[in-house]
Amino acid sequence: MMNNDIEIKNEFVGDPIVDSGLLAVKLLANKEINHCSKEELKKISDELIELYLTPAWSKDILSIFPNSTYIQYAKNYDREGKSKEFLYELIDGLNKSENDPDYCIFCGKPAYKRKDGKPFVKTQIPLVGSSEFTNFSPSFKNGIAICAKCALAVQFAPILFYKTGGKPSCISCNNMEIMKVFGEECLEYINQRKLLNNYKSKDISGIFDEGFKSSQNALFHLAYKTSTKYKKLGLLKQNEEIVIYRIDNYNQNPAGVTIYKIPNNIFRFVINVMTSPEYKKNWYNLLSKHYAKSDANNDSPVWKISYNRIHDSLLKNESILWTFRDDNEKKPTIPWIIVEYYMELVRNMNKQRIEAIKNLADKIAICIEENNNKKRINDIISARDFPTFRNQLRLVFRDWQKLGKDKPMITYEEYISTIIPEDYSNWKEVQDLIIIRLYEKLHNMLSSGEISEVEPIEPEGDEE
Ligand SMILES: [Zn+2]
Repeated sequence: MMNNDIEIKNEFVGDPIVDSGLLAVKLLANKEINHCSKEELKKISDELIELYLTPAWSKDILSIFPNSTYIQYAKNYDREGKSKEFLYELIDGLNKSENDPDYCIFCGKPAYKRKDGKPFVKTQIPLVGSSEFTNFSPSFKNGIAICAKCALAVQFAPILFYKTGGKPSCISCNNMEIMKVFGEECLEYINQRKLLNNYKSKDISGIFDEGFKSSQNALFHLAYKTSTKYKKLGLLKQNEEIVIYRIDNYNQNPAGVTIYKIPNNIFRFVINVMTSPEYKKNWYNLLSKHYAKSDANNDSPVWKISYNRIHDSLLKNESILWTFRDDNEKKPTIPWIIVEYYMELVRNMNKQRIEAIKNLADKIAICIEENNNKKRINDIISARDFPTFRNQLRLVFRDWQKLGKDKPMITYEEYISTIIPEDYSNWKEVQDLIIIRLYEKLHNMLSSGEISEVEPIEPEGDEE
C-alpha cells in the first residue's frame, strides 16, 4: 500500500485531459479512481455510455473521439455493447502489468496492451497537453503507449469539458481546488439536463455550455468567474493560470487543438480588478466600449459572441494603456489604481517608477491649476514624438519655477532614471500615464468646457 502523500501526488499526472478525466471520475464516484472498486467504476461507466449515446452528446463526441464506439452508426453496430466492452476491459486492466516494454506517456507506469492487439489511437486519446506529444504523426500508425488508468480517465474527461465557439474545450488550471469547483458546475449542468430529458435533442449542447462564441471571451469569463466566485470560497493562491484547449479532433487540423492561455500575470491583474465591486463595474464598462459590432439578429449578449480588442491585446501582450484615457470627455476610463495594477502586473513596470510618474503628473496638475493654464495639458496630449513631448515637459518645469516653488518639480536624476530612462522607446507609455493621471486630477477643470481642441502651438524658440 502506498502512503497518503505519495497517493495524493500520484492522483494527477499533469496532462489536462487525463487530469480532467481523473477528476471527473472522482466527482462521479465520490472517491479517487484508485479507491474505487471495479463494480463502482463499471457503474459510472454505464452511466457515462448512456450519456454519450444521447443525440446531444454524440455531436460533441464526434469532435473528441471521432470513429469511436460511442458514435458508430453502421447497421447492426452495438454501440452500447462495444463501448461497455472497451471501458470494462480498461477497468479490468487497471494495475495490471504485463511486462510491456512501453511506458504510459502520461504517468510513466507500464503501458496497457489491448486484448485484441489494436493500438490506442488519436480517436480514443486526443492529445493536447504537451507539444511533445501533439507533434506525433496525426495518423498514429503505431498508436500511443498509455496505461489502462489514463486511457479510462480520458474517456471521462469530456464530462468536465466546456463549450467555446461551438467546440468542446478542455479547461486546465494549475489550482486543482478551482478545477474541482468548476467540475461541480459541469456536473450540475449535466444533471439538470438529464433531469429535464434535454439530451434527446441534438440542439442542446451535451458539454457544459454558457454560450460563448468567442474563445477569448470564454477564457476571460472563466478568469472573471474564478476571481470572484472562487475567491469568495478562499480557493485562490494567486499563482493561477487558466488554459483552454479547444479540441477539433475530427477535422483535418493536424494539431487537433487550439490553445488559449491566461498567464499568471494577467490572471493576477484580473483578480485585483475583480476584488472591488466598483473596480469590477469600471472594468466591465471599459470592456463594453471595445466589442466589435455584433450581429444585430443574434439574441446572445455581445460579451459572449463578439471579439473584444482589450481581451485580444491582453492575450497578445499588446498595450491597452490607450483605452484608459478618454480624450473626448477628458477623463480616465478607469480609476488610477487599476492603471497601477495593469502597469505593474501586466507591463512589468516597477512600482517605484509608476509612483515617480504619478508624483510628477500630480505636480504637473498643481502647476496647471495654479497657472490656470489648460492649454498646457493640450500640448502634452498632442505631442506626437519624443522631442516634442520632452519639450512640453521642459515648459512645465519652467512654469513650476516661475511659480516660485522651492524645490524643482523633479530632480535630474529622477527624471533620467524614472521618467525617461535610457530606453526612450516607451516614452509613449509615460505620456499616456501622465495624461491619464492629469485627466483624473483635473477632470473638473477640464470639463468646464472652455478647453479648445485646436490651440495654436506656442513658439518654442526661447527654449533653445
Ligand atoms: Zn498512465
